[in-house]
Amino acid sequence: MLWRGRRQSDNVEDQRSDSGGGGGLGGGSPGQFRIPIGGRAGGGSSIFIVILVVLAGWYFGFDPSQILGGGDGGLLPGGGGQITDSSGDQGGGTGAPASDEMKQFVSTVLAETEDTWKGIFQAEGLTYEDPKLVLFSSQIRSACGFASSAAGPFYCPSDHKVYLDMTFFQQLDQQFGASGEFARAYVIAHEVGHHVQNLTGILPKFNQMRQSMGEAEANHMSMQVELQADCFAGVWAHFTAQKGILEQGDMESALNAARQIGDDTLQKKMQGYVVPESFNHGTSQQRQTWLARGYKSGKLSDCDTFNTPI
Ligand SMILES: [Zn+2]
Repeated sequence: MLWRGRRQSDNVEDQRSDSGGGGGLGGGSPGQFRIPIGGRAGGGSSIFIVILVVLAGWYFGFDPSQILGGGDGGLLPGGGGQITDSSGDQGGGTGAPASDEMKQFVSTVLAETEDTWKGIFQAEGLTYEDPKLVLFSSQIRSACGFASSAAGPFYCPSDHKVYLDMTFFQQLDQQFGASGEFARAYVIAHEVGHHVQNLTGILPKFNQMRQSMGEAEANHMSMQVELQADCFAGVWAHFTAQKGILEQGDMESALNAARQIGDDTLQKKMQGYVVPESFNHGTSQQRQTWLARGYKSGKLSDCDTFNTPI
């Protein structure tokens, strides 16, 4: 990605030297959504279409009795057991020196998502509110509770912030086999996608609905939320490509990352077998498919994971 020299966002809060806001660690708490997506839609009414369709699905298409509580979204799959949590505690890595350039990269990608989503929202007569992106190391306290780096990047709907420990990028590369700048950009874009879902009412609706859902149903809806975030990331990538700043192999890196963090692939890697009922982010195939789908069309209306078979 040809990101150097481009605008960097002012919305990055560097809390890497902080102790975590005063608290202990803790696993990811409910309500966090790891792995957002960002993108810009071309079409004018696509956001409305998505929202209406989603709401229609919620109100008319689901049998709430089928879904059970549960898993929070994240970048990584991890049904109740949070594969993200078992993906390896990174000890106390501090994000180190080499991360200054990485911080610039993250700030630039965030700025790109801001520009893209601003355009999409404006086209709908809506105002896009930029999310903040908090860089932390080891552990952090968010409005969603305490979280440790081991749980991976996440989005907290309550404070509109994306939380990222950049050491995750090394983990993505070395542990998950997903290298490349654009794999990292995809991670950020996915989290920003959750922010878009938050602004458009999708996340609040999901959080409300899953209270009364069974686990299986909640897991399924969680997958719909996560795959939509992947699709939104694809939409963002679509417009980023149109700016001429993608390089050969960039999209392949992102697609590979989506594949490597699929529920089935992670479970196989972590425990040697898969438990499909526990999937809550989507399989490798599904994640790759929805990312590619958003990338191909650039339309939010093609990201309706709620009324399209996933
Ligand atoms: Zn996510």
